[in-house]
Amino acid sequence: MATQENPEKKKIIIRKSGGKPPRETSLVSYIVSVLVVFIALSLVYSFVTNSNAKAEGQISVSQLSVDVKAGLVKSIVVSGDNLALEYKTGDKKISKKEAGEALTQTLVNYGVTKEQLSSVNIEIKNEGGVGYWILNLSPIIFPILFILIFIWFITRQVRGAGMQALTFGQSKARMIDPNDKSQRVTFKDVAGSKEAKEELAEIVDFLRNPRKFLDIGARIPKGILLMGAPGTGKTLLARAVAGEAGVAFFSISGSEFVEMFVGVGASRVRDLFLGAKKNAPAIIFVDEIDAVGRVRGVGAGGGNDEREQTLNQILVEMDGFEPNEKVIVMAATNRPDVLDPALLRPGRFDRRVTLDLPDRKDREEILTVHSKKKPFAEDVNLKVIAERTPGFSGADLYSLMNEGAILAARESRTKISQYDLIRSIEKVMLGPERKSHILSKKEKEITAYHEAGHAVLASLLPYADPVHKISIIARGRAAGYVLHLPLEDNKLQSKKEFLDDIAVSLGGYVTEKMLFHDLTTGPSNDLQVSTALARDMVTKYGMSDLLGPVALEGQGGKVLFGRGVEEKEYSQKVSADIDSEVSRIMKEALAKAEKVVHENKNLLDAIAARLMEVETIERAEFETLLKAHGVTPKAKLDIEHQA
Ligand code: ADP
Ligand code: MG
Ligand code: ZN
Repeated sequence: MATQENPEKKKIIIRKSGGKPPRETSLVSYIVSVLVVFIALSLVYSFVTNSNAKAEGQISVSQLSVDVKAGLVKSIVVSGDNLALEYKTGDKKISKKEAGEALTQTLVNYGVTKEQLSSVNIEIKNEGGVGYWILNLSPIIFPILFILIFIWFITRQVRGAGMQALTFGQSKARMIDPNDKSQRVTFKDVAGSKEAKEELAEIVDFLRNPRKFLDIGARIPKGILLMGAPGTGKTLLARAVAGEAGVAFFSISGSEFVEMFVGVGASRVRDLFLGAKKNAPAIIFVDEIDAVGRVRGVGAGGGNDEREQTLNQILVEMDGFEPNEKVIVMAATNRPDVLDPALLRPGRFDRRVTLDLPDRKDREEILTVHSKKKPFAEDVNLKVIAERTPGFSGADLYSLMNEGAILAARESRTKISQYDLIRSIEKVMLGPERKSHILSKKEKEITAYHEAGHAVLASLLPYADPVHKISIIARGRAAGYVLHLPLEDNKLQSKKEFLDDIAVSLGGYVTEKMLFHDLTTGPSNDLQVSTALARDMVTKYGMSDLLGPVALEGQGGKVLFGRGVEEKEYSQKVSADIDSEVSRIMKEALAKAEKVVHENKNLLDAIAARLMEVETIERAEFETLLKAHGVTPKAKLDIEHQA
């Protein structure tokens, strides 16, 4: 556990590849594009129609008649209303006649005699060519074209929506074909989780060889529920079962059942089970099932009816298929506590497999799995990395390896070194360093003392986790941080540890107050974290003598208007007692922290001074500092790191 301004570890979001995204182009954008096309076309049209009129060398018909009378014109080519004139001098001119009037008639009207006319060679050209037709038909064609295009777009849009409505109830499940080798995941890809794999090996065996079980009358579980913290490999393990057994794998996320329209979820469930039965033997995997499988009948507001119907449909389908149908439903959740009991009864998800956060050995194995295809320098020691990453999930470790590779690539090296991996640990834990975040001299001093305060307490309180690293380089949202790592992976935490943890969290607060007689916003998160911990001690773990062994706050919470709300099931008096207990725990921790910091002012000053100088103190140097001030460092881990 690290005391730091930002305790939330970077959450890793894994996007699962889905089908095509729905078409979302709106009618408005269609209309706009149609208008643009129309404007472009009309520009072309006006250009075509005007091009002739603006030509040079155009003369009027009256001028032409004068020229003909004078005998200057050699020939006239008539095409439509356009006249191309050639003079005896070789000049070429053009003109236009009156529409619908014969040229000769026009010239006669202007007083040209028959003799004068006959001296001119008049040729009538049949009109044709694309230009002519466009010119003449465009006033009719363009509007019609425009209307047709418009209608086409509209109908397409409507049809699209209609199609979408029709496919609404179909399941959105993604299927992984057993023959698709590139997507295949097997147990080899899942490191650690030994018990879980043993439990699931039975399922694999059944899917491969159902006769063996059915002949002896064994009933194979229909549903398996994978439970575990986010990133512990639930999704991965489910895929591995399908991969091992070589059967089709249908996966869908609980939230995908729930849509805007009531009944869609249920229909999707039907569709999903139908598809799986058709492809049997198969595995249906419902990820994050708590999205639909929450306890029914509580809460109010929209969305619940839909969830209930979906859940009911899942239950009906699971009851509906025969054991010999060779379809197994797997589901994953990180909130088994909120699931509806009906889902958990025998015949449904009666097998439960728990995935824990990996311990040290498992972490090393996971790191090894993810180091395939990653070139390592000789100094890489995954054991040390596993050592330094308690509390990391499989997904965190995966991300750590990836960050290491990115760091090496960024510095144009071809191999990943141990130092890259060590830097990645902190990056995954706390977010990237913000070296550009320049502190003023005063801020730097305050931050150094703040972190030194945490470090002093962590070193002197017997149940606190020892310090691994102190830094005043900003990271993520934290201005500085102290990295604590527990001596071993412990699954249980004691009251004494909690109390010391709270005191360590208050170290920054105490130091700032003591030295600067003022407070900054720096400790706000420390206060939040420690108060929440104190509250949990009282309401969840029964660690308060005043209230005794009662768990007052469940972990479930109810759903009201689509949001989880904690419903208090205790009286006002108990509520006041909780507040007073929390406040007592905090005050005692504060007194303890003040005392320790006060008594070790010299050590505090030394750490702060060193921090201001070098900004980061690693464990080895920190321990030398401790010894110099007569403090014995806590027991060492069996492997010393080399960072
Ligand atoms: P969950 O579904 O439990 O939240 P995922 O199965 O999606 O977690 O795991 C996320 C990623 O973490 C996986 O794709 C894998 O790369 C890595 N991972 C998690 N656990 C393991 C493990 N035991 N072995 C190898 N990789 C793991
Ligand atoms: Mg998952
Ligand atoms: Zn702090």
